[in-house]
Amino acid sequence: MRHEYTSNSPRRIRILRDIDAHRLAAGEVIDRPAAVLRELLDNAIDAGSTSIDVYITDGGLTSITVIDNGSGMDKDDLSVSVLPHATSKISTIEDLDTITSLGFRGEALASIAACSRLEIISTPGDSSPVYRLTAKDGNIESVEEWKGKKGTKVTVGELFHTMPGRRKFLKSSSAEGTACRYVFIEKALPFPEISFKLFMQNQLRLYLPPVEMEARIKSAFPVIPVKTPFLETSESSRGVDYFCIHSYPELFRRDRKYIQIFVNHRRIQEYAFVQAAEHAYSHVLPGGAFPYVFLFLEIDPRFIDFNIHPTKREARFKNKNEIHHSIVELIRKNLTAEESSSLTPSLPGQRDSGSEKDQVTFPFKNPQNKYFDISEARKYFPDPSGKPVSGEPESSVKYHGQAFGLFLIAETDENIYFVDQHAAHERMLFDKLQQNPPASQPLLVPAAVSLDEDKGDVLISKLPVLEKLGIRMHRLQEDSWEVTHLPGRFAENPDSFTEFLKKSLWDEKDLAKALFDELACKSAVKDGELIDHVTALELIEFVLSLDNPRCPHGRPLYHTVSRSQLRRNVGRTL
Ligand code: ADP
Ligand code: MG
Repeated sequence: MRHEYTSNSPRRIRILRDIDAHRLAAGEVIDRPAAVLRELLDNAIDAGSTSIDVYITDGGLTSITVIDNGSGMDKDDLSVSVLPHATSKISTIEDLDTITSLGFRGEALASIAACSRLEIISTPGDSSPVYRLTAKDGNIESVEEWKGKKGTKVTVGELFHTMPGRRKFLKSSSAEGTACRYVFIEKALPFPEISFKLFMQNQLRLYLPPVEMEARIKSAFPVIPVKTPFLETSESSRGVDYFCIHSYPELFRRDRKYIQIFVNHRRIQEYAFVQAAEHAYSHVLPGGAFPYVFLFLEIDPRFIDFNIHPTKREARFKNKNEIHHSIVELIRKNLTAEESSSLTPSLPGQRDSGSEKDQVTFPFKNPQNKYFDISEARKYFPDPSGKPVSGEPESSVKYHGQAFGLFLIAETDENIYFVDQHAAHERMLFDKLQQNPPASQPLLVPAAVSLDEDKGDVLISKLPVLEKLGIRMHRLQEDSWEVTHLPGRFAENPDSFTEFLKKSLWDEKDLAKALFDELACKSAVKDGELIDHVTALELIEFVLSLDNPRCPHGRPLYHTVSRSQLRRNVGRTL
């Protein structure tokens, strides 16, 4: 439906009631449950807590609770904490030059109070009186004596219940829950000395104990195998402290997801610095491959302004170019130092063996004649004798690299395997989807599908099956349909579902299988794509564990050549 623009003038300017003004402004900072969590975590961290527990119910749509053991508030402070512009962190705007806390605008609690039911229980010490404040829709309802331990417990419920417009923009509770989880990790990462627990539906989902930074990163991101070694470096220069944990070039990804920049303990979206980290690897990683880099900068508050973005995701730097340059230098220097300290002799015949034809029999995808160097790989994938270096994954399979853009080459005691990476990944995703079908998601805008009338009649008979698979659609007219709910990736791209529908609906007997197959195929790594070696090894171990190693279409997932076959082929006895 289109809304025509109509001017309602003549109108008189009027001053909004405080509460309305506040509800409007709240939308800027508090737009979804994850934003509430972000602000509450900032406050708990600012209070000097050593332990912070978070409880999320229904993705935060029902409630969000943060419990800390920090400095707490006495009755007077508690009573003003939810008022607009109430902050203990600055007194005047000049204080921004020295501010080190995460909050400073004094607007978060007031904004949250304006659009929810809020309860805060707090006390500055175990033997001090405890008070509980309740507020609803911007009004303080009560401040009364209560029970509790040192610190603060904040519970936010009924978020946006008086703001149907904003509620409409919220996603499913699982999507909102995922957003909360991201915020939780992002906040916990730069404070490894604080213990963080995340409970969802009252179940402990993530526990980040107090540890060193590298261990915090690995516990926050379980995709990074705990034993994979990382590099670490730090430096101070011209008012900026740099601390960086980053991957060896052998570990990489196809996206920039794990190039993360934190400035004064806040994750920021600063493309120039992400690019700097990426650039530092340009001599060791081919295009399209990205490292893991966690970079933490401490900058004198005088040289940075966070007050340019409502949620402080962006900042203005006084000396951005200089910082960019330093980041490249810092990481590159560390990579180079590591390279020269770990030179391993090449295998015979690997590089300088005359004509191309005579070169190694491992046709590695090796764009810079470095990347899948077997001697480098040996650092991570041990000799069958059971010796090489600490930190390698415990695997009986050795991964040797990718050939022809498609095959993952793996060696066990007796065989060499050539694994079709797309088919293997497709099968892995397919198995996961069968065990755990994707949730149905409502579409923000329903998708229109037009179908011939007779096909529409067939579709009607299949609606109950489709509904079980998370697909909801109904007929608008003889030949036009509307789709309102879709599962998994289809929800992100309803056009791909329409394609699937037109292709598969008519003759597929097993619609569930066809659907999972389509979803798996669309998400799987493609022929010609680079994949990092941790993922490669995971895929190889997966396919080797299967009883029936075939893709959902029935093709084999790998080709095997045995040691004895190979030896026979070069005329050796067994
Ligand atoms: P800001 O963090 O920008 O100061 P907030 O609205 O988030 O503004 O909080 C207002 C004030 O309430 C804070 O300055 C702080 O004094 C107090 N406060 C909020 N949460 C806590 C907490 N968890 N522990 C102790 N004090 C808190
Ligand atoms: Mg705050």
